[in-house]
Amino acid sequence: MIKEHRLKISEGVKKNLPRTAFKKGRKHTEEFKENLSKRMSGRIVSKETRKKIGKRNKVIMKEKWKSGNISKATRDNLFKSGDNRIGKETQFEKGHMPWIKGKTHSKETRKIMSNVLSEQYKEGTRVPPMLGKKHSEETKETIRVKKIGSKLSIKTRKKLSRSLKGSKSYLWKGGITPISTLKRHNSDWKIWRESIFKRDNFTCQNKRCVYCKNIKGVMLHPHHKIPVAKDQSLMYEVSNGITYCADYHIKFGGLHKNIK
Ligand SMILES: [Zn+2]
Repeated sequence: MIKEHRLKISEGVKKNLPRTAFKKGRKHTEEFKENLSKRMSGRIVSKETRKKIGKRNKVIMKEKWKSGNISKATRDNLFKSGDNRIGKETQFEKGHMPWIKGKTHSKETRKIMSNVLSEQYKEGTRVPPMLGKKHSEETKETIRVKKIGSKLSIKTRKKLSRSLKGSKSYLWKGGITPISTLKRHNSDWKIWRESIFKRDNFTCQNKRCVYCKNIKGVMLHPHHKIPVAKDQSLMYEVSNGITYCADYHIKFGGLHKNIK
């Protein structure tokens, strides 16, 4: 009988089955506990075994947590001992300094974390924190104020653009826009134009321009010094761009013909 029972337990451990031998409410007798402690005293558990035990315990606790099969006292105890990896809530006190602050996870760790998260989202064991909820007006205002004056880096803008481009866009109609138009509406173009305007201090570079008097605040156009028709590779080359006011660019330039 005992042998059979032991076999069952060892099989269960191997298969990582939840422990069922101990039903809730049942307790070891004092005698049994004493015996157990006698048997275990002086026994050195190898590091490997300890790791194994830890791993298994974590699995068990996670399962218990998921099924809500955990008493309030145990929950509190876990928090007290700092083991808040199992639960969803955390109990950091105000002013607690996160260990990761000022450090970064390695690339591999980040990859692992991302995989775990996306799996959890797919399985439905994790829900996006704001799903179905709305920020309060107060929070919205705080976010708005915080965002004022902050700018996205060029790298981020390119990333954002790529993530919403073409077939990923909700406006995608199967690639019907002519390439010439596309080239003037992508993030490369926008960044190219912005770089030129910035370099030229947002003023028309036509010396003593009769159209804009070289003041700020007029409609500006970026112009290719060497036309793209002549050299495709200079399309987004900042040194090949120059700022002109729209009037000079269109009226005098007659769409490029007279500008040199
Ligand atoms: Zn001008």
